[in-house]
Amino acid sequence: MNREEITAWVREKGWSAFRGKQIFEWIHRGADFDGMTNLPKDMREELKRTAVAQPVSIRMHRRSRIDDTVKFLYGLRDGNCVEGVLMRYRFGVSLCISTQVGCRMGCRFCASTLEGRIRDLTAGEMLGEILAANQFLAAEKEHVSHVVLMGSGEPLDNYDQVIRFLRLLREEGGVQLSLRNVSLSTCGIVPAMFRLAEENLPVTLCVSLHAPTDEIRRKTMPVAERWSIQEILEACRNYIQKTGRRVIFEYALVDGINAGEAEARKLAERLRGMQCHVNLIPLNEVRERKLKGVREDTVTRFMKILEDEHISVTRRREMGDDIEGACGQLRRSVVAGDQTRGAEEDHAKV
Ligand code: SAH
Repeated sequence: MNREEITAWVREKGWSAFRGKQIFEWIHRGADFDGMTNLPKDMREELKRTAVAQPVSIRMHRRSRIDDTVKFLYGLRDGNCVEGVLMRYRFGVSLCISTQVGCRMGCRFCASTLEGRIRDLTAGEMLGEILAANQFLAAEKEHVSHVVLMGSGEPLDNYDQVIRFLRLLREEGGVQLSLRNVSLSTCGIVPAMFRLAEENLPVTLCVSLHAPTDEIRRKTMPVAERWSIQEILEACRNYIQKTGRRVIFEYALVDGINAGEAEARKLAERLRGMQCHVNLIPLNEVRERKLKGVREDTVTRFMKILEDEHISVTRRREMGDDIEGACGQLRRSVVAGDQTRGAEEDHAKV
């Protein structure tokens, strides 16, 4: 519930409105009902009986020995679990969150979609991923400053809850994250991209393009059967025009599919003149998938062609490689009961 809804709810219970403000603020600081010390005891008991303060807990975490990246396996109240990744940068702490349990987009390189979509997350659960991470970080006197919707799930396939979540982030007395520090990644659900441009929510839009032509895109992304790259680029131009923000294209280099010089040149041609940035992602090879990543010199060559064509491009740093950092991998290894890599797991206190 947002602040207004909590206030209306406490009033319905016959409590005064300022209790709504107190409860809202406690929740966003990560408290459970017992910890809401300025509420009368009977009120706390009633809340415990009828409401949920924190829908998400950390079931397990792994910390990378290479770069201090932390991977969370979040537990939900119905027994499902999703993943999150915490990454430390010079500019702050960035949390990658999931928006659905599983995913139904079917991208052939991705581990999240192997069993389809199980269910959508609620806005409260997405917020809960941040609150749980903040609680985890409290011991280190840190908190989440940036959020990327790049975990499991397709955010624009869970549109209403994602928008609700984004609005919660900037409510007074909440976590108060600037939406300029939030990135939303989509595989390219064109109508929802147009809708998002009208929401007045200045998030950075990232688009998983992964190919310069529809023919190549269809090899790895079933969603390419529904919307063409041309339609995606139109939606991006509209987003740029409406929000004044550049769009980021994600491009995972897959051996023998999209990583050649011809593909780089074709990509540059299509993006020329656009206010955009290309983020090259080394493919994280997923055990269940046959696709292969590329060698370092292929990445360098691809990048050079884009640079020569004046396309802004960077290569995504690989983080958490030793802790199954990529989408859906940790959850799968746990859900599948495969604990072969789990020997060194730390169990979270939270
Ligand atoms: N559904 C959204 C967000 C989730 S995935 C989307 O499609 O954008 C976040 C990014 O990781 C996407 O660009 C996705 O294509 C990419 N990705 C998924 N599996 C990957 C893998 N095995 N290696 C590299 N990138 C991958």
